[in-house]
Amino acid sequence: MLLELKHIYKNYLQDKIVIPVLKDVNISIDEGEYVAIMGPSGSGKSTLLNCLSTLDKISSGSIRIMNKDISTLNKNELCQFRYEYLGFVFQDHNLISYLSVFDNIASPAMLAKENPKTLQNRVVEIARDLEIEDLLDKFPNECSGGECQRIAIARALINQPKILVCDEPTGNLDSKNSHKVLKILSHLNQTGTTILLVTHDAMIASYAKTMMYLYDGGIQTVIHKHQDTQIEFFKNINSITTQDSL
Ligand code: ADP
Ligand code: MG
Repeated sequence: MLLELKHIYKNYLQDKIVIPVLKDVNISIDEGEYVAIMGPSGSGKSTLLNCLSTLDKISSGSIRIMNKDISTLNKNELCQFRYEYLGFVFQDHNLISYLSVFDNIASPAMLAKENPKTLQNRVVEIARDLEIEDLLDKFPNECSGGECQRIAIARALINQPKILVCDEPTGNLDSKNSHKVLKILSHLNQTGTTILLVTHDAMIASYAKTMMYLYDGGIQTVIHKHQDTQIEFFKNINSITTQDSL
C-alpha cells in the first residue's frame, strides 16, 4: 500500500471556535493509482490533500506512506520525504515571477547538490515532453495560462516524484488547455506516477481510475472505472455528484 489514511480528523480553530472539517476519513491508495477526489465546495478536498501530502497537520488519526507512519518523522525528515516522494501542482501555478521558466522548473532540485549539466538535461527533457522547451528563457508573465500550468507540472516532476498531488490543476484553464494538461497527467500515470487530483468537475475526474466523493467530512462513495470507457465513468460520476445539487 502506497498511502493509508486511518480515522483522519481535522479541525480548524477560528476565533476560539473549533470547526471540524474532516471527520473519520479512511483511504487506501495503491501505487499506480489515479484518484480524483471530488466533493462540494468547502467539503474539505484541499484540506484532505494538504493533510495527506504532509503540508498540513491532522488533528488525529494516522497517515502511513510507503509503510511509514509520518507522525514519527521530524521536520527535516518530513522535508526530505516531500522532496523525494511528492510533486505538487496547484490551481494557481504559483510560479516565481522573477525567475526564468528554466529556473522555475529547476528550483525544487536546487536543494540537492546535483551536477548542473545533469540538471540542465533533465529540465530540457521534461520541457520537451510538455512542449514548453521554447519557453525556457522566458519569464512566467510572458507565457499563457496553459503554458504556465505546464511549467508548474514540469517543476513538480523535476525530482521524479512517486506521487503527484494536484489541486484543481486546470481550474484556471479553458477546455482545450485543460484537456492538454489532463492528457499529460494520464500519460504520467501510465508511466508509473501515482496521481491524486482534487476537482469539482466530473469531466476532469473521468480521466482518473477511481473517484472518491467527499461529503460532510467523510468519504461517502468510492467508484472505480475498471473496464468502463471514460464516458461511462463520467456518467457514473455525474450520477453521484448531481444527487447533492438536486
Ligand atoms: P474545498 O477544497 O473542498 O473547497 P477546503 O478544504 O478548502 O474545501 O475547506 C474546507 C472547510 O474548511 C471550509 O469550510 C473552509 O472555510 C475551512 N478552512 C479551510 N482552511 C481553513 C483555515 N486555515 N482556517 C479555518 N478554516 C479553514
Ligand atoms: Mg479547494
